Amino acid sequence: MKEIFIGNYGLEQVGQTLTATGWVANIRNHGKLAFIELRDREGILQVFVDSSIADFEKLTGLHKESVLAVTGELVKREERFVNPAIKSGQVELRAEKIEILAASKVLPFELDSHAHTGEELRQKYRYLDLRRKQMTENLKLRHQVTSSIRDYLNQSDFLEVETPYLTKSTPEGARDFLVPSRVFKNQFYALPQSPQMLKQLLMGAGLERYYQLVRCFRDEDLRGDRQPEFTQVDLELSFATEEEIRDLVEGMLKAVVKAAKGIEIKEAFPQISYEDAMSRFGSDKPDTRFGMELKDLTDLARQHENLFVQKALKEGGLVMGLCAKGALGRFSNKQMSQFKQRMKDFGTMSFGSLGIEAGKLTGSLASSFAPYQAELLPLFEAEDGDLIFILTGAKKRVQEALGQLRLILAKELDLIDESKLNFLWVVDWPLLEWNEDQNRYQAMHHPFTQGIFEEGLEAGQLKSHAYDIVLNGYEIGGGSLRIHGREAQEEMFALLGMAKEDYERDFGFFLEALDYGFPPHGGLALGLDRLVMILAGEENIREVIAFPKNGTGHDPMLESPSLVSEKQLAELSLELKD
Ligand code: ASP
Repeated sequence: MKEIFIGNYGLEQVGQTLTATGWVANIRNHGKLAFIELRDREGILQVFVDSSIADFEKLTGLHKESVLAVTGELVKREERFVNPAIKSGQVELRAEKIEILAASKVLPFELDSHAHTGEELRQKYRYLDLRRKQMTENLKLRHQVTSSIRDYLNQSDFLEVETPYLTKSTPEGARDFLVPSRVFKNQFYALPQSPQMLKQLLMGAGLERYYQLVRCFRDEDLRGDRQPEFTQVDLELSFATEEEIRDLVEGMLKAVVKAAKGIEIKEAFPQISYEDAMSRFGSDKPDTRFGMELKDLTDLARQHENLFVQKALKEGGLVMGLCAKGALGRFSNKQMSQFKQRMKDFGTMSFGSLGIEAGKLTGSLASSFAPYQAELLPLFEAEDGDLIFILTGAKKRVQEALGQLRLILAKELDLIDESKLNFLWVVDWPLLEWNEDQNRYQAMHHPFTQGIFEEGLEAGQLKSHAYDIVLNGYEIGGGSLRIHGREAQEEMFALLGMAKEDYERDFGFFLEALDYGFPPHGGLALGLDRLVMILAGEENIREVIAFPKNGTGHDPMLESPSLVSEKQLAELSLELKD
């Protein structure tokens, strides 16, 4: 085993005879002498090989990525040959003996030019892809994040407890991955979407503070920041208030950022209510690295109704807009019609834009909006050269559509400072949301979240003790105070339209547990992959997972999922349809 990684060799080792082991990242053979860039996990070491040594001939035909053990003296480089770009840049190893521990064939792709390598190929040869510096650094960052989380929670008296992966399928939430049981014929385990009930049961068990870095499984359609299996930092506490839980998590995230990025965040994370997040940013996970907030023009629009706003006002909808500073003339007609199409896809009504030139409104909506000019410009703080987009339609659709437009415009106009880490708590969530397809309420967070029941409010207006933590426009975690009494839990199931016999069948064990002295409790789960992705400056969680699935949920290296044998199927009493 190495005492020092060769990438870390420096002046302290000069004069020592060392055996450096690693991979050939590059080789330049000039005939009389050769230079090898030998790489290990921590970086590159330059090896100088003179043709006078007996092993020089071993370099002939040697391919990159072969594994060598090179013994020789570590020397200081002459000043003019110092390479400040690598940690070991002040030294080089003078080879005396070279042993080829494992010759490599020519690789299927170049490691140093991955930008040109298709992701499918990178994933098929993931063990090669992970040799690339950026990928090794991502895994090291992930390790720093997880160890700082563990350190922080251990110091705060949390116990790390594992919960099973073979669990029970329950309704609500996403689709389950099912595992057929061989022993219990026709019965299935489900892989956990999260250990929600189990961590609550650990509170019932009196453990008071639990955490786990746990794999969760959801059979959903995939996106850049989603995988069928992903890791959560899952935690739960008894006898804590909402504020105490948020303070704890905030402290943990600050410790993570300090450990992983060396950045000290002193200020408290800002908080915004769900309602304000939606009306100001058109998103329940606002990216606050830039402004361009949405403005509500509905009241103003009522003063001088025009054709553009008429339909929305008649149907109880909203007229909203946002102002892109200095964006007048920045977008082609094609881009403008793409924006329009995007807005339409959200099911909104009318969309248009107004420019401001020499203090006057211009563009297709200019005449409709001229009567409001005196109020409109100050509302948007708009001035010459700005471009205002206006959209009408039903509240949620208009907000969400403009929220999307805000993000698109920020990218197009390069408004985002990538060096920022903007954390934000989103609080005061609604308890329920209406599911149009199923014609019933569903839990906004999950059915175990404690509601805030106020006289006179309808179910859809109720708020809850739920909170989300957002970073740079990504939801990186969420949690809530939980229901801890049977009666309240049964009421919640009933609000969700579940019949008694259904929730007794699916959740009976849990309801019974609530009968035996269950403490008040709450918690949260963070999406570890997303958090690491943002800290690594990556745009896809696959870049921070050692062996991810591809965009369709397939693993090109393991070739999984795959067919299984007739015998295996028979043991499980399963028959394939086709
Ligand atoms: N289990 C929840 C989730 O996965 C998080 C929580 O409420 O703690 O979203």
